[in-house]
Amino acid sequence: MAAFSIHIQGQVQGVGFRPLVLLYAVRYGISGWVSNGVNGVQILAVGSPAKIAEFYNAILQQPPQRAIITRSVFKEIPVPHPVPAQFNIAESKSEGVPNLLITPDLGMCAKCRGELQNYHNRRYRYPFTTCTQCGPRYSIMYALPYDRESTAMHPFAMCARCRSEYNNTRNRRFYSQTNSCPICAISLYLTNAAGSILQSGASAAIEQAVQCLQNGQIVAVKGIGGFLLLTDATQPEAVNRLRQRKNRPSKPFALLYPNLSALRLDARVSAAEAAAFLSIESPVVLVNLLPTPNSKLAAAAVAPNLGKIGAMQPYTPLLALISEQIQVPLVATSANTSGSPIIYQNETAWNELGHIADVFLCNNRNIVIPQDDSVLQFTTAGKRRIFLRRSRGFAPTLLPPLPHAESFSGLAMGAHMKSAFAFQHAGNTYLSQYLGNLESWEAQQTYRLTLQHLKTMLNAQPGTIYTDLHPDYFATRTGIEIAAQSNAATVAVQHHEAHFAAVLAENGYANPNPPKEPVLGVILDGTGLGTDGQVWGGELLAYRAGKFERMGHLSYFPVLLGNKMAREPRLCALSLLYSHTETAQQLLQSKFSAVEWPYYLRLLAAGNLLQTSSAGRLFDAVGCLLGLGDLMSYEGQNAMYAEAIAARYAHGRRLPATCRYKVVFTPSGCADVQQLVAAIAADVLNGVQPELIAFHFHLWWCHWVKHVAGLHGFRTVAFSGGVFQNALLADLMEKMTRKHHIQPLFHRLLSPNDEGIAYGQLAYPLLTGNFTA
Ligand SMILES: [Zn+2]
Ligand SMILES: [Zn+2]
Repeated sequence: MAAFSIHIQGQVQGVGFRPLVLLYAVRYGISGWVSNGVNGVQILAVGSPAKIAEFYNAILQQPPQRAIITRSVFKEIPVPHPVPAQFNIAESKSEGVPNLLITPDLGMCAKCRGELQNYHNRRYRYPFTTCTQCGPRYSIMYALPYDRESTAMHPFAMCARCRSEYNNTRNRRFYSQTNSCPICAISLYLTNAAGSILQSGASAAIEQAVQCLQNGQIVAVKGIGGFLLLTDATQPEAVNRLRQRKNRPSKPFALLYPNLSALRLDARVSAAEAAAFLSIESPVVLVNLLPTPNSKLAAAAVAPNLGKIGAMQPYTPLLALISEQIQVPLVATSANTSGSPIIYQNETAWNELGHIADVFLCNNRNIVIPQDDSVLQFTTAGKRRIFLRRSRGFAPTLLPPLPHAESFSGLAMGAHMKSAFAFQHAGNTYLSQYLGNLESWEAQQTYRLTLQHLKTMLNAQPGTIYTDLHPDYFATRTGIEIAAQSNAATVAVQHHEAHFAAVLAENGYANPNPPKEPVLGVILDGTGLGTDGQVWGGELLAYRAGKFERMGHLSYFPVLLGNKMAREPRLCALSLLYSHTETAQQLLQSKFSAVEWPYYLRLLAAGNLLQTSSAGRLFDAVGCLLGLGDLMSYEGQNAMYAEAIAARYAHGRRLPATCRYKVVFTPSGCADVQQLVAAIAADVLNGVQPELIAFHFHLWWCHWVKHVAGLHGFRTVAFSGGVFQNALLADLMEKMTRKHHIQPLFHRLLSPNDEGIAYGQLAYPLLTGNFTA
């Protein structure tokens, strides 16, 4: 007889780990115990050495489906006295240094879905059905280790039958912390905006909510990460009413489809897209809309001018019940007022959404940490996954972790518009969910709450704090504040270097023996403060021998009225076309009032404006010239429209060898965008088809990159920045680089947009060797 102590780390809590260990112990005749701690799962195994080895192997080789084991320690210890008679689950331990991956929220598993629809099952139509393999986790967690007492399930006492499932080793709900049923139910009720109950009782409340939807009303539903606003997507008046009330004139809405076959009535869905749609993470997946949707989907109201829709499956039992009953696609968009983060408390919902939602489907379980739905898409040719938002289902765990020393503790604050922070602690890397635009006060509060929550759960004091170079960003100021309180060092990382660092680290360049090959970084986005004080955004950076260097960029053009330019593509077009006076007049003057036009010309003539090399603003300008919009109601609108028409042109065509627009270089080696815009403007004036112009404009970027890579002999090129949410551009870049035997590096786990900045900031010291351990 021997005894072994086994310690397992990683994503091992909230995934049914202890129950499975107990099953294996019984199978291999092992006695002892298993328990959750703040640093993983601890096991005492007593039995014959051969059986213990088999037991250990089974745990490592066949862990629970959702578990991720990052480390395990197996060591012999003296046989305890008395020898344990059997194997059991011991009380969790909360002492020690927290070191755990936090399990993200999981969608609904197939078994729970089946029970929901099975009339003979006791959870038939119970809207909070879960098991050890599914349901909320991160969003209901107050503290570690993961036990019912430290979650929002704490106030709900299990009934006798749930308790017996919980204690039954052979039950799927053995040790399921989110266990509940219609007897010991989380209550669901329908209210008006005053919070008065209109209908209680799950079935009746759902029934009435569905009736409201059928009548074209707007229903706010409390889900896993926060409230969603639902309305019938086949009724254009309903969708337009939601647009009006939400003050959201044209930004596309996500859709909830009853199932994959219903989605296939309206969209072309590839195998990869279908797999993502059905996955336990259940993100919103962008798919190509059919020319005539078969469900009567009001496509023009849901996603104007895009040719794509974002669709997700009902990932909670409640959404499944609603969806199943109504059978049509529903708009399902985060409930917030424009620009603010998702609302997640009943009282806030009643107060803030009273003018938007007609009724509220609430429940009495708290959401601890709010999260939006994740959004992703796949490129057409390369079948590459692009994250547009990494949130519910994915956050806050990130694997593989950055290879910092275990003793290293760092906090990276991220950027501004698409905020997220990253934490390195005890050898694990955490990346928060998307936390929204930090211009808004509410977003700032959610950012602070989420950061404080994770810091407290991990009991972590970061030794170094990484921020953006921009001193006025809320995230930067918060980082400096935290550093001052805790005596930590701060390091400012330039925005585009952080983007580049993120894609490099994701591709192994931060690992102990990184590839030696120098890399050209193509970093295209809207805004980031440069080291010369200008607004960078169309950048070619080199990474070699642990150093970043700016190799080239788009030629500078004047910034007109700061942030206003980011909302008004007509200002971008004017700034870029200004030196071609006659063309500017012909194409743009009509887009301005008689007061505005001379005013902007005077500003430009004065010539003392901040300069930008923004790729995002160039996309905006070209979109404006193509007639896609002079003013934008959401970020990236013109770029998305330009991508849509270019993709239409590209469909079924081979990659042309030449581009209609020559890459012209300025004497200082920048790509001359004033020339490019003038050539595009000339085509517009000559009546060239906008689809063709948009396509060659996409191609132009590839030729720029090819030229610079060739000139400096780069064999590897990395792509990052918000512009690479553009699936067509990613595909063209991939084709172009491969054709010239250049290896392309893309993001895989992170979004190319500013949500990935924090991760890049955290990877920065590994890539540059500037270590503060
Ligand atoms: Zn389940
Ligand atoms: Zn129960």
